[in-house]
Amino acid sequence: MVGGGVIALLTAVECVLGGHQVTVVDQGPIPFSRATSFDQHRILRALHPADPPATAAALRAHRRWLELEELLSTRFYEQVGALTVLPPEAAAAGALLLGDAGGDARELTPASLADRYPHLYLDGALGGVLEDEAGVLLADRVLNACVAWLKWQPGIELIEHRAATEVHGDGAAVRLTDGRVLRGDAVLVAVGPWSRGLLPPGIAERLVLSRQSLLYCRVPRQQAAAWAATPAVPSLGTRRGAWLIPPVAGTALKITSASVCRTVDEITDYGTEDVFRRQLEAEFADLIPGIGPAWITDAKDAYYMSFADTGGPLLVALGGTGYAYAACGGTSFKFAPLIARSLADRLTGTDPSPIGIAALDHPLDARTPVPAAV
Ligand SMILES: Cc1cc2nc3c(=O)[nH]c(=O)nc-3n(C[C@H](O)[C@H](O)[C@H](O)COP(=O)(O)OP(=O)(O)OC[C@H]3O[C@@H](n4cnc5c(N)ncnc54)[C@H](O)[C@@H]3O)c2cc1C
Repeated sequence: MVGGGVIALLTAVECVLGGHQVTVVDQGPIPFSRATSFDQHRILRALHPADPPATAAALRAHRRWLELEELLSTRFYEQVGALTVLPPEAAAAGALLLGDAGGDARELTPASLADRYPHLYLDGALGGVLEDEAGVLLADRVLNACVAWLKWQPGIELIEHRAATEVHGDGAAVRLTDGRVLRGDAVLVAVGPWSRGLLPPGIAERLVLSRQSLLYCRVPRQQAAAWAATPAVPSLGTRRGAWLIPPVAGTALKITSASVCRTVDEITDYGTEDVFRRQLEAEFADLIPGIGPAWITDAKDAYYMSFADTGGPLLVALGGTGYAYAACGGTSFKFAPLIARSLADRLTGTDPSPIGIAALDHPLDARTPVPAAV
């Protein structure tokens, strides 16, 4: 495995469970605080409006995360639910879709939203879908739990602080910065926003690098109870795309918005420029009564890669037994257990069960880079 983010680590777990020997190599420590996966939290919501297969897949991911907590003996999934704020007709359709997929969801009217969440200013014309089989994954805890488990398994090697400089699917070979060449039966490249450096030019040029600013906040003591009863909110129903993660399990309230996500050429620093900090403060002043600079304890920027053609994830067949999880998009953390199982199957020569998401079930062939028919 090249990369030590959630995709490679969970794929390593699946391969080890299948009785295989695995080497994981990362340019930094494992886990690495600069990886896209490394943050306090990530949201798991099952609802994908108007997309029943993705909704069903997210419910399966929810169940697999619960199993992984058992396997890895660590609590990292706070099932606080997820609230998606939507126009009332879309909320009704969303609740129906989730119910049909076997999930538990309630449609909330504009009045019940205002009643339940007085510490949020939501557009009075909007309703919402509140899901129960959803919540917050404590992302850095997930990575640490994978590493702690893997370290005790036979046949596992973790190589830290060694970047891969070349990867060959045919022959499953990886060259490291120190000149060493690792060979195995199969190879996976899952290097997140660094993917362009290891993929063939025809693929690399179709990958888009995004940078997003995030603010971390401490909520006032008198609001602690209200925030403790707040689900993850992957959409606050605003035109600019604001969303938040509540302060669960001792973490901070995290606020961000699609409006502070921009396309960049390369990974540089991780600091948040004042202009984006102020933009988020202004956007959330209309959404959270009383929020201001005194609430903010930290800020950082994060990077992720997506496939230009779809704006989402991309799986690439490198030839032979080599695969690259070349672009992760914005939802790969929650789907990681399903992606990992499917990748482990491919790497070990087993037909993977379909996930139900075209981009994850039909790899792009690096030798003929046109999308496979779906
Ligand atoms: C702001 C933000 C919010 C998000 N929110 C959500 C969410 O709520 N829910 C959700 O499901 N998803 C979310 N995502 C997406 C999710 O975090 C990513 O899809 C996922 O973490 C990607 O994991 P990865 O393993 O592919 O990559 P990474 O976590 O980036 O791991 C890649 C690893 O590869 C290593 N590496 C890089 N180059 C080399 C090299 N040459 N040699 C060796 N090692 C190398 C890196 O050091 C790193 O450790 C969000 C992303 C962002 C940026």
